[in-house]
Amino acid sequence: MTVRLMKNAPLAPYTWLRVGGPADRLYLPNSEEDLAGILRELPDKEPLTIVGVGSNLIVRDGGIEGTVIRLGPGFGKVSVDGSKVTAGAAALDAKVAKEAAKAGLAGLTFYVGIPGTIGGAMKMNAGAYGGETKDHFVSGRAIDRKGRIVTLTAEDMNFRYRHSDVPDDLVLIEATYEARKGIAEEELAKIDEIMAKREATQPIREKTGGSTFKNPDPGVSGGRSAWQSVDAVGGRGRVVGDAMMSELHANFMINRGKATAADLESLGESIRSDVRAQLGYELEWEIKRLGRPA
Ligand SMILES: Cc1cc2nc3c(=O)[nH]c(=O)nc-3n(C[C@H](O)[C@H](O)[C@H](O)COP(=O)(O)OP(=O)(O)OC[C@H]3O[C@@H](n4cnc5c(N)ncnc54)[C@H](O)[C@@H]3O)c2cc1C
Repeated sequence: MTVRLMKNAPLAPYTWLRVGGPADRLYLPNSEEDLAGILRELPDKEPLTIVGVGSNLIVRDGGIEGTVIRLGPGFGKVSVDGSKVTAGAAALDAKVAKEAAKAGLAGLTFYVGIPGTIGGAMKMNAGAYGGETKDHFVSGRAIDRKGRIVTLTAEDMNFRYRHSDVPDDLVLIEATYEARKGIAEEELAKIDEIMAKREATQPIREKTGGSTFKNPDPGVSGGRSAWQSVDAVGGRGRVVGDAMMSELHANFMINRGKATAADLESLGESIRSDVRAQLGYELEWEIKRLGRPA
């Protein structure tokens, strides 16, 4: 087994927000055999955390206890067979969107603006512009804590809004999607359009984590989306330390440079508390917060 193991490994460089303490042990496996080997050897009580490219994560300042797994490029292959697209869990969503479009398949272009991996997309039911992972997902593969390969159906995933039923210690390794027949030039043009729209409306060049909060149930929020809720309590541009709610998109947090995870989390909690007090409903975090406080 040739797996890279790093002890006390800083995790901030592995996240978009660039915050957080170290993992006790970080593994970067590059093959199914290596991954299965690591999992088989984990003591039963060892805490296990899986990360993708950290585009939806705040790792807390005290780091993550136990073992953290981040899949290496060996899990990044994308292949097209007829109308089916199969992607390794470390493949970037954007790569899947582009490969499908180039092959003249329609339906997966929405992935181009989501900066995560297919593993993160499956776990989170990532979606944008009316498309969601669940719309095209056929089946998935994963490896469990005993090192066994598990096959997942759409029913097993039980996708809901930015949520699936994947247990936190199951390592997703591959997804297969069904796409529709399309015209390559048209799909590639849609990709350019989505990228231009993202650039204009989201702080994608900043250290950010995407949508901070899920959209609340419109029946409860009087139709306000998450960004409208943040705006309604004066949260746009709010600052805690070097953490800030973006001026460009009120539901995106950014690290202006030296923010800690605690700054980001307390900024989010201050918005949640104002929404609760002033608007009378809960905003639920979409960003996953992992690990121990400093
Ligand atoms: C600028 C920007 C724009 C964004 N826009 C969107 C958007 O339009 N729509 C949207 O849905 N999201 C959006 N996001 C959020 C984010 O990109 C998605 O949630 C993405 O799916 C997360 O993937 P990741 O690889 O970064 O996962 P991470 O952030 O690393 O992890 C997210 C969750 O997935 C789990 N996970 C990751 N990989 C695996 C795996 N292999 N096996 C098991 N569990 C795993 C982690 O444990 C964690 O619970 C945006 C983020 C940014 C920074």
